[in-house]
Amino acid sequence: MIELRNVSKTVASGTEPLTIVQPLDLSVAAGEYLSVVGPSGSGKSTLLGLIAGLDVPTTGEILIDGEAITALDEDALARLRGRKIGFIFQFFHLVPSLTAFENVLVPLEIAGAPDARDRVTALLSDVGLESRGHHYPSQLSGGEQQRVAIARALANDPPILLADEPTGNLDSANGSHIVELLQSVNTARRTTIVLVTHDAELASTADIMLRMRDGQAERVTLEPEREVPV
Ligand code: ADP
Ligand code: MG
Repeated sequence: MIELRNVSKTVASGTEPLTIVQPLDLSVAAGEYLSVVGPSGSGKSTLLGLIAGLDVPTTGEILIDGEAITALDEDALARLRGRKIGFIFQFFHLVPSLTAFENVLVPLEIAGAPDARDRVTALLSDVGLESRGHHYPSQLSGGEQQRVAIARALANDPPILLADEPTGNLDSANGSHIVELLQSVNTARRTTIVLVTHDAELASTADIMLRMRDGQAERVTLEPEREVPV
């Protein structure tokens, strides 16, 4: 479970402090799927980075399964992240000197997974890249790198998956494939998902939807699925 209490982020910007995430209370239950939409610059990536503990809030606290990550030191935070959080970065952050296969292998080796290499093969196949494992990031298109990054984020079956515009670099066919993959991970493994996207239609498939504007998050009421008569 993810809980934010009065979380905000203010940065120094020129001479004036600039609040890029306004104070926010939010709770995402285990297995829930939250989407975050909003225009570019509205604070979506900042919010996701705060939840992942990659960034420190100016006010408030963030709890992951009841543990205040804002109180943890770097090592403890890195361990918690390794156990609980898969992060899909907007711009992939693959290691350029490692192949696609090795990029996905790294988190499995760190976690000491026994069947790491088989798991990499299965993950690359899940994202449709079974034949591209030996390629380096520079030999892959943006969309392919994004899919490697997704396989890496899913490697250790994290209970929480944070995704920053994971379909932003994909064509529509690959985009829908990844959306289905994320949805199946959410339903099959009850993975908690926070998905940042500027695709309102995609966002509306979530359980909860936040819309951000100038750092202010507002909850959007989603229409309940219409009941189908039997
Ligand atoms: P989004 O992901 O919605 O496009 P971001 O969270 O990346 O938005 O950024 C929100 C705003 O905060 C942007 O205007 C961005 O330029 C600004 N910003 C982000 N990080 C910093 C920083 N470290 N210092 C100053 N401004 C920042
Ligand atoms: Mg962003």
